[in-house]
Formats: sequence, C-alpha cells, structure tokens
Amino acid sequence: MRISTSLNVFDSGIARTEAVRRCAAAGFVSLDMNYWDYQKQLMQTSVNEEEAWAREIRDTADSCGVRFTQMHGPVHGTTFTDLDWDDSLESFERMLERSLRTAHILGVPWVVFHPANISKIGSGSRDEIIEFNARFYKKFVPILEETGVGIALENNCLNRLFFPSYFALPEDLIELIDTLNHPLIGACWDTGHGIIESVNQKEAIVALGKRLKATHIQDNNGKKDQHLLPYQGSIDWKEVVQALVAIGYEGDFTYETHNSVRNLPDEIRDAGLRYSYELGNYVLSLGKQP
Ligand SMILES: [Zn+2]
Repeated sequence: MRISTSLNVFDSGIARTEAVRRCAAAGFVSLDMNYWDYQKQLMQTSVNEEEAWAREIRDTADSCGVRFTQMHGPVHGTTFTDLDWDDSLESFERMLERSLRTAHILGVPWVVFHPANISKIGSGSRDEIIEFNARFYKKFVPILEETGVGIALENNCLNRLFFPSYFALPEDLIELIDTLNHPLIGACWDTGHGIIESVNQKEAIVALGKRLKATHIQDNNGKKDQHLLPYQGSIDWKEVVQALVAIGYEGDFTYETHNSVRNLPDEIRDAGLRYSYELGNYVLSLGKQP
C-alpha cells in the first residue's frame, strides 16, 4: 500500500500533465486521475481528442516514473434520474464507456463509480434499488473484460438517517458487488463518507475484505464532506490503516483531500503536497504498530 493522491489537488485550469509532474516532484509514485472534474468539457470533446489527451498524460506519467492506480469516473448525479449534465441515462452510459477506454490508455486498473438510488432519494425498496444498480453496471462487463479495467463502487454520504438512501453502508455495497459477482467489480471505501454516516470504519473495511479495490482517504468533522488531510478532522487513522493491513488490501492509500491543497495559493501548493506525502507515509506507518 502506497500513498497516492488525486490530481484534483490542482484545479482543472492547470494542465493534468503539469499536475502529474508536480505531484511526482513532491514524492508521489501512485496517482489518481480525476476524470469527473473534466466530465463537462469532455462531453464537448471528440473521442479522438480525448484519446490524445489521455496519451499525453500517460506519457508524462511514464517519464516521471509514476503510475495511475485509480481514477474517479464520471458521475451521473445524486440519483439515476436527476442527471447533472447528461440529457439521458444513455448518454451517461456512453460517457462511462469512454471513461473506461481512457482509463485503459492511462493504465488505470480501477475506476470508481457511484451506485445510487433510481429516482428521488427515499423512493423505491432496497431490493429494487440494488437490482437496478446491478443491471446498470452489468452492461459494462464486456468492456471491462476487453480492457482489463475494473469498476470500484463507492460508499456515499447522503445522510441516510434523514433521507432513506442506500450504499452508505458496507452491507449494501456487498450485496450489489456479490450480485454482480465478477473479478473486475469491487468496492471503494471513502473514509470521509463513512464517518459522516456514523459507520464503524474498521468493521466496514473488514466486512468488505477482498472486495475492497480502492480507497478515498479524506478527513472531516463528521458533519460535512470536507475532503481534508488526515488529522484535520476526527477520523481514527490508526484504526483505518490497521483494518486495511488486516484484510491484506492490495490497492493504494489514495487521498481525495483537495480542500487541504487546492485552496492554497499556487506558490505554496508544492510545499502542501510534500507535506501531505510525508503525512501519508506517517499514517501508513501506524499499520505496523501494535
Ligand atoms: Zn470519494
């Protein structure tokens, strides 16, 4: 398990090639590509242009000696009906397929997607929602097998106690993943979402076990999805790391901590990245403690 960061520590106005170089210079050898941040602009881009964009980023990563070990895929919206940008679920499906091909060019093994409610939060039974998600993600199995790229389904934080929603709890993810039952479909655990939803992180990680393929490591105050570095919130990091070690997790410890770096003036972001890299290695060392 290595410390990794999403490239979203730099706003999307900074070229991803420059973001790769600056993360590598700070010490990172594993990276996460933030496709979601480019979703709107990629909708106006041809497939050929997107391929060329991805190849340039991949070439830069190769020349810096870094690897993409995760990617955040496109997001449809809070539910499968309230779409953020697409005019239909079919157009989102085409975007999802494109993102998997781009992940393949980048050498990304796992792309993170959001399982979700079908329509309004609170409507539909748990069984219906899990079956809908299983049918939706099953459609992509042929392209997963063709490219070798996997899908990791992430726990959300829609405040399940106030708005009945699913996939905040590990048992919902487990049921969906086991229904899909494919080696290229697993889970992503977001620590910040976990604490907001009052989930015991250790129990969740242990329950996911070998299904866990990716992580979104971020801290917060337990109320807002703040995306901060470890110890800037209230998560017990030793418990998280030791649970990852206990299950033999083979992925990376991947920061989604943009608000601790991206909000800094650009002149000081590289120092912020070096600090976050050092901090991450300290957190990982807790895994070796008794
Ligand atoms: Zn996340």
